[in-house]
Amino acid sequence: MNSFPNELEDLIERLARFPGVGRRSAERIAFYILKMKEKDATELAKNIDAVHKTIKPCRICNNFSTQEICPVCANPKRDKEIVCIVEEPKDILAIEKTSQYEGVYYVLLGSISPLEGIGPESLSIGKLLNRLRKGEIKEVIISTDADNEGELTAQFLIEQISRYKVKLYRIGIGIPLGIQIEYIDSATLGRAFLERRPVT
Ligand SMILES: [Zn+2]
Repeated sequence: MNSFPNELEDLIERLARFPGVGRRSAERIAFYILKMKEKDATELAKNIDAVHKTIKPCRICNNFSTQEICPVCANPKRDKEIVCIVEEPKDILAIEKTSQYEGVYYVLLGSISPLEGIGPESLSIGKLLNRLRKGEIKEVIISTDADNEGELTAQFLIEQISRYKVKLYRIGIGIPLGIQIEYIDSATLGRAFLERRPVT
């Protein structure tokens, strides 16, 4: 036998496309799935199907949402004129935990990464630029990760956003270089928010 049955081979190939999962890990996961009880495997498949069918990016900010508009954008108490730009929806959770922010968010769904061949055109900023053009936003806070990708992304955003009449800030003071927003403790991230600095 030169290879696994087709069904198994397909599953391994699919799993190997996951971020950070190579062929070897993909095989391990596939064998694990094979050893699962049939009922559990069916639940897993249903789970994958359900997240795809029920969770969509928010129409305004790209945050994960089961509604067309996410709970942050839909909250009348949030200041819609202040927008914090983050790379991923999980960064919103980290910032919400600090309780230091009352504006809304905009999720890029990625960052610029020359190593992975991801350029500025892959970032989803169209909806944000539209709102800036219409003058709906007074203040933007760039909260990309403090790593190379986050820095490249921030520079690109500054280039794009400084064309509009808007106050532009970056968080970052006190955040050690190389760290991602989701791993910063709430106190440090909260402080970084309070001490945001203007971009000139
Ligand atoms: Zn939203």
